[in-house]
Amino acid sequence: MVLKFVDEYRDGKLANQYAEKIANLATRPWKIMEICGGQTHSIVKYGIDQLLSPLVTLIHGPGCPVCVTPQSIIDLAIQLASTPGVIFCSFGDMLRVPGSSKDLLTAKAEGAQVRMVYSPLDALQLACDNPDRQVVFFAVGFETTAPANAMAVYQAKKQGIHNFSLLVSQVLVPPGVESILSASYHSPHESIHGLLAPGHVCTIVGYREYENLSCKYKIPIVVTGFEPADILQGIAMCIAQLEQGRAVTENQYTRAVNRKGNQQAKAIIAEIFEVVPQVWRGLGRIPASGLKLSLAYRAWDAEYRFSLRAESEEVKSECISGSILQGVKKPYECSEFGRNCYPEHPLGAPMVSSEGACAAYYHYRRGSQKE
Ligand code: SF4
Repeated sequence: MVLKFVDEYRDGKLANQYAEKIANLATRPWKIMEICGGQTHSIVKYGIDQLLSPLVTLIHGPGCPVCVTPQSIIDLAIQLASTPGVIFCSFGDMLRVPGSSKDLLTAKAEGAQVRMVYSPLDALQLACDNPDRQVVFFAVGFETTAPANAMAVYQAKKQGIHNFSLLVSQVLVPPGVESILSASYHSPHESIHGLLAPGHVCTIVGYREYENLSCKYKIPIVVTGFEPADILQGIAMCIAQLEQGRAVTENQYTRAVNRKGNQQAKAIIAEIFEVVPQVWRGLGRIPASGLKLSLAYRAWDAEYRFSLRAESEEVKSECISGSILQGVKKPYECSEFGRNCYPEHPLGAPMVSSEGACAAYYHYRRGSQKE
């Protein structure tokens, strides 16, 4: 397939050809999990799951960093934003993620200093412009956001800017994927047969780690892009492996991803951060699945600078985001979906982010009988 323009990746005729290919390939039931929320969004928006053979089921995984950010970190963000002399900066998608009692937008309405920015370097500039204030940037995301966050801290140190810091909640995808694969591998019931790995994360880190996972859990993994033709081709590659009894990692997203990843991006991440255990909302603590600022850059760590400690436990509520993020349940199986939980009034993070599975189903499948 040689395609040049984004419209070509959304071509209905091509999508139907791939759907037909998948139907011809599949001879028994297969469950494929897509990890990335961007892929989930495309699948639901374009009805890709409804195009597929009834033998192929798509399971939506935990690939939305907003959705997996723990409630305790949101509480710390609100605490910081409410601290006199602090300007708290964040991307817009974090502002409405519920903490244990409120979200950042509510805190802002109550007088907290919350600013929406488009880049960590915007926050760094704000620190330069306000030398008498402490500026904290909410560093949330997968490996995709880590290089820019690392660069902001690198620049802060280089330029001697000491009124800037990061509140870090960076998660690493492969350990999160491994936790799900391990559970599936040891369960006779909820088995995942194949995986679509997130193309954008692999542009940074490559896919060698996924090769290890394929080998260890005997599962085909296909690094996949985000457009309908990408996703359908990724599914077809996965089904072909399953039908042939193979289990290796392949790369559908060759126009952006190579095996080793982006060496410069990986180098700046390794320079600024160290790998630590991380709590994922709904999934719990996963070893070696997060990043924190390393010792040499600890002075720019907001938790260290303000002597903060995440105290609050996950609040039990009617939200079943844990089951949604593990692909065990679909959003419409939540009793709150569309009733008490909707984008203007989210009860859980998967309804906040545009990449969250609940928000995707709300926008594109609400009221549909065949969800
Ligand atoms: S619909 Fe709302 S309450 Fe239900 S799982 Fe999704 S975010 Fe949580």
